[in-house]
Amino acid sequence: MRILVVEDDPVSRKLLQKTLEGWGYEIITAENGQKALEIYEHQNVKFIIADWMMPEIDGLSLCRLIRSEKNKGYVYFIMLTGKDKKEDVIEGLKAGVDDYVVKPFDRSELQVRVRAGERILTLEKELTAKNESLQRLNLKLEELVRLDTLTGAGNRLSFYETVEKTHHRACRYAQFYGIIMCDIDNFKLYNDTYGHLAGDNILRRVADSIKRSIRMSDDVFRYGGEEMVITLPDQDLNSTLTVAEKIREGIELLGIEHKGTSNGILTISCGVAAFDMEKLENRWEDILEDADKALYRAKAAGKNRACS
Ligand code: GH3
Ligand code: MG
Ligand code: MG
Ligand code: MG
Repeated sequence: MRILVVEDDPVSRKLLQKTLEGWGYEIITAENGQKALEIYEHQNVKFIIADWMMPEIDGLSLCRLIRSEKNKGYVYFIMLTGKDKKEDVIEGLKAGVDDYVVKPFDRSELQVRVRAGERILTLEKELTAKNESLQRLNLKLEELVRLDTLTGAGNRLSFYETVEKTHHRACRYAQFYGIIMCDIDNFKLYNDTYGHLAGDNILRRVADSIKRSIRMSDDVFRYGGEEMVITLPDQDLNSTLTVAEKIREGIELLGIEHKGTSNGILTISCGVAAFDMEKLENRWEDILEDADKALYRAKAAGKNRACS
């Protein structure tokens, strides 16, 4: 462990340095508080043993300045002093001093106090590491709780959060937004023919294909079993319909075999709706319902198509 020794008297400084080095510590020295601060700014200092009475910045002010630095980790601060009156101790504690050693120092007492500081710093380091790993884990959980595990698309919770935000933004800034509902055609038959595992694989491929057909600002979610929903900020009904057609075509072009459909390949149907600023009374639930109705029409009209 590295310790910064701050002492204006050269003889005491040397003695302290030799003593601590003899116990295996790495020592940096400074002859006053000002020099110590410069070292603290530029080097990784976690442990300071400082004299109280020094020119420029004394030990007490040094401790206060170090404690006011919020962005660096904890510094263990031992004050070395001839002042041992109760009022002095209280003043030092108020400034944030962790411990005292009275001058001239007793070797074994100094050693015990330095070891105590070392233990506390080790614990602090472990706690910080644990905290950081918990924070990373929390971020990961936040992400996972909004993801559909099978397809990697957003899940229902994530859809609600996104559509809510998109809707409010559209109302506030007088913008459009579109919603597309997609549903795989004759998917029950696909499962019955090829098995559920193959069906799962199709869901992944469909989600991936949709992701490739949309823009960065659009989002795709798994709404239900084989239904996907896409939110498209800033898009009106016509441009949303164009995207839906592109999505539908993208799936068709995958050319996935599906016996039992009219053209022999797997297809999807899409229902499209968009928020109309002339109808500010509309809620996003109404737009979603419109998209759902349009999807039914696409199915009724023969599937593998997008309707608005
Ligand atoms: P339509 O063209 O009218 O949409 O017919 P469909 O067969 O696709 O629709 P239906 O609602 O009758 O069936 C949906 C099927 O989706 C039934 C169910 O087995 C399947 N499905 C839902 N979730 C999953 C899943 O996670 N994995 C798999 N493999 N299949 C799923
Ligand atoms: Mg001094
Ligand atoms: Mg369905
Ligand atoms: Mg279906």
